Amino acid sequence: MEKNLFRRIPKVDVLLETKQCKEMIDQYGYQIVIESIREELEQIRAQILNGKSEEEVLLLIDHILSSIENKAKEKEQFHIRKVFNGTGTILHTNLGRAPLSVTHMEKITEIASGYSNLEFELEKGERGERYSHFEKLLCKITGAQAAMAVNNNAAAVMLVLNTMAKGGEAIVSRGELVEVGGKFRIPDVMEQSGTILREVGTTNKTHLFDYENAITEETKVLMKVHTSNYRIFGFTNSVSMKELGSLKEKYELPIIEDLGSGVLLDLEKYGLAHEPTVQESIQNGADIVCFSGDKLLGGPQAGIIVGKKKYIDQMKKNQLTRALRIDKFTACALEAVLREYLSEENAIKNIPVLEMITRPLEQVQEAAEELCYRLTREEFPAVICTQKCMSQIGGGSLPMEQIESMAVSIQPHFISTELFAKRLRTLPIPVIGRVMDEKFLLDMRTFDRTGIAYFVEMLKIDRIFKVDR
Ligand SMILES: *Cc1c(COP(=O)(O)O)cnc(C)c1O
Repeated sequence: MEKNLFRRIPKVDVLLETKQCKEMIDQYGYQIVIESIREELEQIRAQILNGKSEEEVLLLIDHILSSIENKAKEKEQFHIRKVFNGTGTILHTNLGRAPLSVTHMEKITEIASGYSNLEFELEKGERGERYSHFEKLLCKITGAQAAMAVNNNAAAVMLVLNTMAKGGEAIVSRGELVEVGGKFRIPDVMEQSGTILREVGTTNKTHLFDYENAITEETKVLMKVHTSNYRIFGFTNSVSMKELGSLKEKYELPIIEDLGSGVLLDLEKYGLAHEPTVQESIQNGADIVCFSGDKLLGGPQAGIIVGKKKYIDQMKKNQLTRALRIDKFTACALEAVLREYLSEENAIKNIPVLEMITRPLEQVQEAAEELCYRLTREEFPAVICTQKCMSQIGGGSLPMEQIESMAVSIQPHFISTELFAKRLRTLPIPVIGRVMDEKFLLDMRTFDRTGIAYFVEMLKIDRIFKVDR
């Protein structure tokens, strides 16, 4: 019986001779089609060995050509893909954190698709610095003397410590020994950078005298880490940058701060909790501040370092910098995004992350109503309505902050919400939402408006609501 079934599987040569396969070869090329055929045949054989019933196996064989075509289609597709983000998490690390604007990308395309003056001083005709394109901008915006950037903020912390405290001690409060996403742990990074961590204070309380008592000949820097991804409440005390600054003169020690998110404007104005800005940190006496390029700053992945020129110069010369350096995409993107900060109005309008955070609820509501209306009109087999929800910043920034938002809620009649969500994830442009209380939610604050028409069309043609065969 099993043997019989094996015999029913079409041979490769026979399949290759079918009209459909010939068409597929024209479209996808021979290599992709032959691989798809072999994989499909292999799968059917495995199903037989696993004891699938005759009926089920024959059904698979009936559909063999369309299964092969699906495989070919998938192979032809890029693995990395655009997705529509309906999760409501603005800085979603798994979905690429900060999106860049099309206008900024046009500039990047122009620069990266040809040659540029990345490290070339046009006037002098000499070798230049890749930081030159955004260093002055950063200084102007933050009030720092000098600036540079490396691959990401984890790299920045490593470089700062390696340059300023290698072989010596860095004093950090126990309340600031954080782990951020992706297993980045401050104590581990310090060790990697060749710095000895000198913990002071307790989890909830650290005082100025804790730092002062820990200072010895071995101390190289005082370090503050912004606890960007969690908050402690109640009986707490931490030492501010200003207070720490009072030790600087007396002991001649530099203070460095890892700010995590690179906030360059006052978010309180837009109804969010106060998040310390880079400007404040510099003003309050930090000698070196580092932060991410793709968190609240809304730019490319980068670790930006600003502060005293004498330290930045040392970092530029550090061998590690060569290993951590940014490429032309990043240099160009940083210039494009930072230019927007010269006017707060432009920043809010033209940097997608800031635009999403500050977008008025009415606008989000409108988008939700439009999508809901268009879905309802199609009479899909589902309960569809708009629903209030909360967006979050994400990316380990402002953990307590939630922004009022509006979602479209879809609850299919005949299939589970999980299956529905899964089918949406496998669309040519995947749609990622949130499943809550058996409902599939698309938060319209992060869902790109250009996705509305696409989404409605996909629900129509892909039989997404159908019960499995
Ligand atoms: C996010 C974060 C980092 C790591 O930044 P990446 O750019 O993701 O490498 C380091 N320190 C703090 C405090 C952070 O919040």
